Amino acid sequence: MVNRERLAETFKFLVEIDSVSKEESTISGEIKKILESMGAETSVDNAGDKIGGDTGNLIARFRGNRQVEPLLLNAHMDTVEPGKGVTAVLADGVFTSDGTTILGADDKSAIAILLEAIKTMQENDLPYGPLELVFTVCEEIGLLGAKHLDLDLITATFGYALDATDTEGIVTRAPSANRLEFKIHGKDAHAGAAPEKGINAISLASKAIANLELGRIDHETTCNIGLIEGGTATNIVPNLVTVEGEVRSHDEEKLNKITNTMISSFEGVVDNYRRMTSDHGLPRLEIKIEKDFSSTYIPDDHRVVELALRAAENLGRTMVTKRTGGGADTNIFFEKGIITGVLGTGMRDMHTVRESVKLDDMVHTTELLLEIIKLHAIGIGES
Ligand SMILES: [Zn+2]
Repeated sequence: MVNRERLAETFKFLVEIDSVSKEESTISGEIKKILESMGAETSVDNAGDKIGGDTGNLIARFRGNRQVEPLLLNAHMDTVEPGKGVTAVLADGVFTSDGTTILGADDKSAIAILLEAIKTMQENDLPYGPLELVFTVCEEIGLLGAKHLDLDLITATFGYALDATDTEGIVTRAPSANRLEFKIHGKDAHAGAAPEKGINAISLASKAIANLELGRIDHETTCNIGLIEGGTATNIVPNLVTVEGEVRSHDEEKLNKITNTMISSFEGVVDNYRRMTSDHGLPRLEIKIEKDFSSTYIPDDHRVVELALRAAENLGRTMVTKRTGGGADTNIFFEKGIITGVLGTGMRDMHTVRESVKLDDMVHTTELLLEIIKLHAIGIGES
């Protein structure tokens, strides 16, 4: 039933439209046109104004032909860099870029699949309930679109996002994350003439970082220092360094524990120095901690899971629940009370110029989605 060629064409059309984060207005306009031609009511929220982008989240509503609770379907419209001037190459059933940019299968494979699924339903007069499609902006730069989504436009309380690789998995657990920023203020001095008058902020930061355990802490916890910036010249003792990192865990207690360990390490090094020689309150530490997103946990007996498993079974396929180490728009939806499982589209090597997606995988996910929508429409999994 799924029109493979049309799906491929839609996908190619979408990836060849530039849409790096904060510049999604062109692609949003194109998707809106397609949706409206299919009979959707659309709106764009004001998230763009709040986050400095050129458009907001695009929301589309299909009434469907069955009276059931609305189902939310989500994909994000933005891509990472290098994402401008993408040329889609299809060879042996696999889409890639020409090697100079990302492909943008993350997450345009999802958008193409959603559009194809609805077209197929309409053409074949399949049962479907009310659908609320949410196409977010700025997912890649901190889930900003989801964070500023206008909830007045959403009535669905559960649904699916398509933003993962595995076409035989549904992500039901994602970690929570803290973002951390440490600023160490030292004191500048001429590095050759009077180094003893300075307090080397970079040296202090290095000691604090060297004490940390980074990487995979345990099966559900990770920790990273990802950015460091400081100093002005080789002959100046640096008076300022900024270090940024993150902690993620599926367990809130562990998240807090590792966050506190990182803080203690920086505090310890700075306090130690000050105990020996304090110079007008220097060195000084400034710490910023921000909850980036909260963890998600969808129990196996939730109908989001049941519908996906049942749909796969009907198609003679396997489907397993999965946990991920990444955050997604679904973490934010979860906080807002919309329970959203994440399905895979087959996209691979995302955020690299080697990114790819098999057309077969996209067809598979379209079929799976059709079955899920159908089961939902006829009342399977309803409580
Ligand atoms: Zn994505």
